[in-house]
Amino acid sequence: MERMVTEQPYRSLSFWMDTVPGPLDPAGPLPGDVQADVAIAGAGLTGLWTAYYLASAQPGLRVVVCEREIAGFGASGRNGGWCSAEFPASLAKLARMAGKDAAVAMYRAMQATVDEVGKVAAAEGIDCHWAKGGTVELARSATQAERARDEVAEAREFGFGDDDLRLLTADEARGFAAATRVAGGTYTPHCAAIHPARLVRGLAEAVRRRGVKIFEGTEVTEIVPGRLRTATGTVRADYVIRATEGYTAALPGLRRAIVPVYSLMIATEPLRDSVWEQIGLAGRPTFGDRRHLIIYGQRTADGRFAFGGRGAPYHLGSAVRPSFDRVPAVFGALHQILCDLFPQMGDAAITHTWGGPVGIARDWCASVGLDRATGLGWAGGYVGKGVATTNLAGRTLADFILGADSDLARLPWVNHRSPRWEAEPLRWLGINAGIQATNWADRREARTGKQSLAAQVMSRFLGH
Ligand SMILES: Cc1cc2nc3c(=O)[nH]c(=O)nc-3n(C[C@H](O)[C@H](O)[C@H](O)COP(=O)(O)OP(=O)(O)OC[C@H]3O[C@@H](n4cnc5c(N)ncnc54)[C@H](O)[C@@H]3O)c2cc1C
Repeated sequence: MERMVTEQPYRSLSFWMDTVPGPLDPAGPLPGDVQADVAIAGAGLTGLWTAYYLASAQPGLRVVVCEREIAGFGASGRNGGWCSAEFPASLAKLARMAGKDAAVAMYRAMQATVDEVGKVAAAEGIDCHWAKGGTVELARSATQAERARDEVAEAREFGFGDDDLRLLTADEARGFAAATRVAGGTYTPHCAAIHPARLVRGLAEAVRRRGVKIFEGTEVTEIVPGRLRTATGTVRADYVIRATEGYTAALPGLRRAIVPVYSLMIATEPLRDSVWEQIGLAGRPTFGDRRHLIIYGQRTADGRFAFGGRGAPYHLGSAVRPSFDRVPAVFGALHQILCDLFPQMGDAAITHTWGGPVGIARDWCASVGLDRATGLGWAGGYVGKGVATTNLAGRTLADFILGADSDLARLPWVNHRSPRWEAEPLRWLGINAGIQATNWADRREARTGKQSLAAQVMSRFLGH
């Protein structure tokens, strides 16, 4: 993949990277062969949280991170800023995998993780515009209201109460966000809206202060037991961690492990206070609705909408390129959806458009693990729910490496192995058909008010 080498293109990666304080010039590359205790490929949140907990628990441990671009270049510097307790696999799915208690433990661990991120950000002086206002998911049709009821019913079956997820009447939902056609919704307090680039860049600084070496502009070409190879040298270490998420398929032997599926975003100019008084979102709860094709938004600390969704195509061979971040038709559709949700925003200008790859495992379940025999570790497959989950992954990997016996090691995603994705071109056909069918199902549902069979069939193929 062609590399970016100057600050300016990094600013254009997202609204967040454009507005993050401090320079974005890459630090120096790996200068040659290096001996370390732990070597990490990728300086996104997964790699940096792992480094953070290792260096905090054992100062003096030699931790080296190799990053092809700059810290925060990937999804960690471009996301929707939902630091949320959502986990990619449902409670029912986790229960089928590992039992009911394990499923509940996973969700409780995610809830605690949201607070852990806020705690570390505060302790490290990272001003990531933290606002723990929860999430409101609007239901804007009878079928969406039915899905809201189903989700609450599932939560109740697993012992989660109103404090975790509650059903909203139409009036209550409108009280959170005065969108059009609101028929109800759900509210969970377990989410904070953040400025993600401030978090990941601030974390990189915190990690450096603890003595971790982050080599930027350093592409890892191979990960093997005891070694992480790059063009300018090899890092030898007892433990080698893969933290490359949506970019994993480019590494040797991993072409079918995780697919990159694009999520795209837009940001508006700051809206006037009088407009926010009409819209609401006071306390900055993150928001979405219950259509099939995911949409997500937040009111930023400086009074904009940052709003995103899926729908961009998957590229043959799990290719990732800067040009794939920009799909004008998807940006146009997102703008239209946002105006439809909140016509109060009037003709507010779109100031930023961007996107990036989220990583998806074949069975849609994120995982973290360490193979004791080889010292190889990994975490990923967060399906666009990684802002908090990466923190749990980092703590888990650090516990494994340091030999700490903790409850984290017993969570059901630990050492979980997803099947591999189909070979091409079946993978390309299946994923893009899934995206199209989901889009089509939403349009049909909006027109007829009926739930579509096609969406159910395709989501079954994708294993969601
Ligand atoms: C548009 C968008 C919106 C999202 N919104 C949300 C949200 O609101 N909430 C949420 O929870 N999640 C969201 N996500 C997902 C979330 O951002 C990710 O799950 C999370 O950031 C993953 O972190 P990571 O460190 O594993 O991966 P990344 O942040 O992608 O980091 C991987 C790093 O590895 C580097 N790398 C890759 N290959 C190599 C190599 N060969 N050598 C060296 N370095 C390499 C990359 O340059 C990159 O910096 C969103 C993602 C996107 C793209």
